[in-house]
Amino acid sequence: MAKYAILSDIHANLEALSVVLEKCREIELDKFICLGDIVGYNANPSECLEIVRNLEPVAVVKGNHDEHASIASEEMEGFNPHARKAVIWTKDQLNEEQREWLSGLPYRATVQGTNITIVHATLDSPENWRYIFDAHHAADNFTYQFTQLCFCGHSHVPIAFCKKPISSTAEKPIDEIQNWAYSPEEGVFPRDVEVADELRVSVQTGFKYLFNVGSVGQPRNRDPRASFAVYDSVERQVTRYRLPYDITTAQRKILAAGLPERLALRLETGN
Ligand code: ZN
Repeated sequence: MAKYAILSDIHANLEALSVVLEKCREIELDKFICLGDIVGYNANPSECLEIVRNLEPVAVVKGNHDEHASIASEEMEGFNPHARKAVIWTKDQLNEEQREWLSGLPYRATVQGTNITIVHATLDSPENWRYIFDAHHAADNFTYQFTQLCFCGHSHVPIAFCKKPISSTAEKPIDEIQNWAYSPEEGVFPRDVEVADELRVSVQTGFKYLFNVGSVGQPRNRDPRASFAVYDSVERQVTRYRLPYDITTAQRKILAAGLPERLALRLETGN
């Protein structure tokens, strides 16, 4: 029985990770889980990797950026030119031991002694790096989900689904958990962008849940605040946090490293 912090898509953003870990200390967590993409896009891959390892997470899985930053091949299917440039830069920032550690991570894991499975992309074919954006994608994932809870990342967009018990007479077997996926309207900057917020989902017996916890280091749902989740196995609650962080410093480092300007700009718009 414990409180778990679930961190995904840190993407070498030291400023965002620091704020998230400060919050984790404040809420007195017991354990950490990492859903991959520790590196890529931002300017502190080596530092973020060491911080994650020092947290001694109970489970870590590999993301697509982790994979490409840790193997020799420069073939990157599905990577845009900015992402590709960042991967090549990242590879150079990591030492051999760090690259080996990343490349040795599994694609999915069940957290020992818990009802939690984790994956970076999707459980049905984790190595193909698919995205979960709707109930159809979620259905494919639930087919391979044998624990009550599954946490994933990859899209950087928080979204959650629950699958009702087989005995349920409801018309739709899978529902989206609406408030988890809050995204501001296009072009409308969230008014509360400087304010931290949190929302809770209660885990009910007989239901299965799939949570995309959003991204620590490069949020993409037009909300630039760092996103992560906490699962409390005693209260049986999953809480999603959004935290403002020092975006300006993260941007400055991206530019100073010679990484594409677009990677700096997208941090402040959250897309
Ligand atoms: Zn990612």
